Amino acid sequence: MTSLSDLPIRDDLRGLKPYGAPTDPVSIQLNVNENTHPIPEAVATDIVTALAKAVMTANRYPDREFTELREALAAYLGHGLTAENIWAANGSNEVLQQTLQAFGGPGRRVLGFPPTYSMHPIIASGTGTEWVTASRDAAYDLSPETVVAAIAELNPDVVFLCSPNNPTGTPVGNATVAAAYDATDGIVLVDEAYAEFSDRESALTLLEGRPRLIVSRTMSKAFAFAGARVGYLAADPAIADALRLVRLPYHLSALTQAAAVAALAHAPEMLAMVNEIKTQRDRMSAGLSALGFTPVLSEANFVLFGNVAEPQELFHKLLIQDILIRDVGIPNHLRVTAGTEAETTAFLDAMADLRALGR
Ligand code: PMP
Repeated sequence: MTSLSDLPIRDDLRGLKPYGAPTDPVSIQLNVNENTHPIPEAVATDIVTALAKAVMTANRYPDREFTELREALAAYLGHGLTAENIWAANGSNEVLQQTLQAFGGPGRRVLGFPPTYSMHPIIASGTGTEWVTASRDAAYDLSPETVVAAIAELNPDVVFLCSPNNPTGTPVGNATVAAAYDATDGIVLVDEAYAEFSDRESALTLLEGRPRLIVSRTMSKAFAFAGARVGYLAADPAIADALRLVRLPYHLSALTQAAAVAALAHAPEMLAMVNEIKTQRDRMSAGLSALGFTPVLSEANFVLFGNVAEPQELFHKLLIQDILIRDVGIPNHLRVTAGTEAETTAFLDAMADLRALGR
């Protein structure tokens, strides 16, 4: 049997592991920070109607510029943004990849602050960009001074700031984003995949007059649309021009465009659960604290908690009870996505039972 190492693969990909959040067909999946609430049926019906219409013209290539979608995304974001400021792709992962294809690549480096989104280094390696890292402050914070010092030391071409940060839930203040921008001639990308769950001011407010700043977003989290694969960014129109150089032609299918535009027309219904999810997140944190764990203050839809003696053991004990959460590789920590009220109750009950059993 041929194995990967027998193939003439790029030297820099040898020995690497693919992204692989474990998936299990369990009833309570709180492992990949999805919105676990289903799409409202009336909205789903409208999306199906839009898809049916798009299918009728699927003999033709889609709108390469996905103009209607960019208009809808600009209207959703507000902040005076127009379609020219928006770029979209198949999930914000692809937005990040295109950003590194255009602004990273061989001989260039991207700076990140672990623990952070596990795909950031993987996208860096896929695009041949060197992934360089610097430490965070206490409690996973990122002060302007810390970020500026790291930029001065490592001289990156691209800086990734994840706010709120996955897997910690920690926000990055706009003072830090602005300081990072001033400290580099490169691109500063704020990954705001979880922004809708935070009460902080978005980095979107900093875009005016900062042509090297990118704010990336996704419909996968708050918007309950992970399966449709729609991510996007807001930036100076010149950034979109740069991404046009590296994107594949027609990268967003007509079906994706139609589904996303239809979903965005129902933004309030799609986002209706955000407050409820925040309530469940805070309930999870309080419940975990009461059980003696140490949850990190989260502004996203998940909670990272410490004081876990044996993360893998606890992970498997929950799995036996049909609950899937995530070991993100931080010693003595696990991460859990805030679910529906019932899912959150099931998780907290299972944790209390395991605690009572001496775990
Ligand atoms: N950024 C962050 C911080 C994430 O956690 C995720 C998904 N886990 C993404 C980007 C990518 O999401 P998607 O490709 O579904 O938009």
